[in-house]
Amino acid sequence: MLFRMKIPLVDLKAQYDSIKNEIHVAIFHTLETSQFILGEGVEGFEKDFAQYCEARFAVGTSSGTSALHLALLAMSVGAGDEVITVSQTFIATAEAISLTGARPVFIDIDEKTYCMDPSKIEKAITKKTKVILPVHLYGHPADMDPILAIAKKHRLLVLEDACQAHGALYKAKRVGGLGHAACFSFYPGKNLGAYGEGGAVVTSDAEIATKIKKLRNHGGLKKYEHEILGMNARLEGIQGAILRAKLPFLDRWNELRRQNAERYQGLLKELNMVLPREASYAKSVFHVYVIRVQERDRLNAYLNENGISSVIHYPVPNHLLKFYRELGYREGSLPVTEKVSKEVLSLPLYPELTEEQMQYVADTIHSFQMTHR
Ligand SMILES: *Cc1c(COP(=O)(O)O)cnc(C)c1O
Repeated sequence: MLFRMKIPLVDLKAQYDSIKNEIHVAIFHTLETSQFILGEGVEGFEKDFAQYCEARFAVGTSSGTSALHLALLAMSVGAGDEVITVSQTFIATAEAISLTGARPVFIDIDEKTYCMDPSKIEKAITKKTKVILPVHLYGHPADMDPILAIAKKHRLLVLEDACQAHGALYKAKRVGGLGHAACFSFYPGKNLGAYGEGGAVVTSDAEIATKIKKLRNHGGLKKYEHEILGMNARLEGIQGAILRAKLPFLDRWNELRRQNAERYQGLLKELNMVLPREASYAKSVFHVYVIRVQERDRLNAYLNENGISSVIHYPVPNHLLKFYRELGYREGSLPVTEKVSKEVLSLPLYPELTEEQMQYVADTIHSFQMTHR
């Protein structure tokens, strides 16, 4: 007999309870110094986060979406250009491309990692292609070496969407330092989350870093010096200070996520589903724990009814969104993406998740599969 438990997709309160002191010190210091926009908190975090990502620069932005938008602008992407990316990702990846005026060119994914399939890139390259934009989806790094090799051969830039993969490793190197630039989101539920909106572009290219610093601040590094057309996409001082206080905990939290993923593996392996698979080159940070099942929508509803906040990432792949119809994609354009998107289901996974909670998730899936065959 099942008993009802309530399991959220992420538990931000549990994390806050474990680091209250550090967070309060960070917030109060910002209040005492009145550095609310950029300032000491943001600069300190930028230095620490660049070092963490094994890159030279990090530039804080108002969100992950603005980080992507600004990074593409800094790479001179605009109307008439094409950016090769994946459809199996959060809308922000494609949105940022479209916001520059460029056209997103969607290619298919690898069925094991759910990340960009490098063998599909060259067929998608045209004279208009400027950037390849792989996504480290669900915390798992894309296969960067072949992507970087193709980019080099065709003189293209590579922008990593690392919004779900803070701290993930590709062949022992951190994501974020692999391409020409990388974008991170600090949306509260991400592996490293602010207490509000936030993002960053990480790069070792001084020119890109400086251009993003201008773009985020009305086109200039100093007040009222508008050298180029920019916007307001700055990271707030309080968020920078919070992120700086949280960063030292990130590796520990990611390790707990990996331990919990391993526990799930043991609990779920006898059930009827495809479990997450980690490529030999990768150390994933399990932003979410994504299984693939038949009867996905019914299982999702059943879990929700039983207090488990499972979620579909994402219900409609970007190439089939109504407002992208003009791009000319149809059902059948990206077979692996379309197959996967009908089957994926994200189970709650966060550092503080207990063995008892995971057992309940496994039991609930088991009872669904026993009664719905
Ligand atoms: C969260 C996310 C973004 C956007 O980040 P925001 O901070 O919410 O704007 C972009 N790409 C991916 C893959 C994401 O998961």
